[in-house]
Amino acid sequence: MALKITDSCISCDVCVFECPNQAISLGEEIYVIDPERCTECVGHHETPQCVAVCPVDCIVPDPERREERELLYQKYLRLTKTRR
Ligand code: SF4
Ligand code: SF4
Repeated sequence: MALKITDSCISCDVCVFECPNQAISLGEEIYVIDPERCTECVGHHETPQCVAVCPVDCIVPDPERREERELLYQKYLRLTKTRR
């Protein structure tokens, strides 16, 4: 499933550069994750890189965006294809 950033975010910027899918950007108040681009890092890394670096642990699974690993991998394939 895609991840989401809760309002505990302190807008430190660190996660933005770790995301291999350019899924994280600054929203109106805090950083936000584009669910169309978040693959939970499937295809790139074993674990979500944004979660690993967030100093306040405010990145959590979005229950409204449940996706099996296979679907996340398909998303990864779509995203990398458009980059070529
Ligand atoms: Fe980007 Fe990976 Fe975090 Fe999703 S889990 S927002 S793909 S770093
Ligand atoms: Fe917000 Fe965490 Fe990203 Fe920093 S690393 S901008 S606190 S979500």
